[in-house]
Amino acid sequence: MKKIKIKNSSQEFPIGKIVCVGRNYAEHAKELGNVVPEKPLIFIKPSSAVIYSGEEIVYPDFSNEMHHEVELVLLIGKTIKNVDEKSAEDAIIGYGVGLDMTLRDIQSDLKKKGHPWTIAKCFDNSAVLSDFILKENYKLTMNEEISLLVNGSTKQKEKLNKMIFSPSQIVEYISSLMTLEKGDLVFTGTPAGVGKVEKGDGLFGELEGIAEIKVSVK
Ligand code: ZN
Repeated sequence: MKKIKIKNSSQEFPIGKIVCVGRNYAEHAKELGNVVPEKPLIFIKPSSAVIYSGEEIVYPDFSNEMHHEVELVLLIGKTIKNVDEKSAEDAIIGYGVGLDMTLRDIQSDLKKKGHPWTIAKCFDNSAVLSDFILKENYKLTMNEEISLLVNGSTKQKEKLNKMIFSPSQIVEYISSLMTLEKGDLVFTGTPAGVGKVEKGDGLFGELEGIAEIKVSVK
């Protein structure tokens, strides 16, 4: 089973489910022609999709348009169900940066047909993770910047406070729909600037001062 790597800690967290939020930055919703949602739009990735910083993203042979989406990722530290926002905040015990790799050509087709996004979002190595930092060692202010560079040029760069739904609001909402457990991860949505990657590209994702990802595409 895959585990979350924690900086400066020997604690081990086997990865449970990965819940992802779509359209959580207004500028990103606009760039894909989507309306800004009234509630978080959520979908799931399997833990088998996880790879870590330093590894390679293999381009799936069933797509010609794989996009990068850089996101703040929350680590859940205890079992919660139907909690209020304060308890939701307490259940978040760590932060990392992640890439929600997305097959945009397939997703557009699935959206048109009204089908689930599974094929576009759940393929192997579609969830790239940094090492995580525990909340007890770092207090997130939401003034931090999240960014993604492709071959050294900046493609995505935004402050976390531009999110439509905050981390605690997202976790509160998810807990009203399903139980969250220790080791679950929440991808909180991507800012504007998503785009296609090519074989040979080098990606560098960063959550300012907290976590980083370096991967290449092959
Ligand atoms: Zn995403």
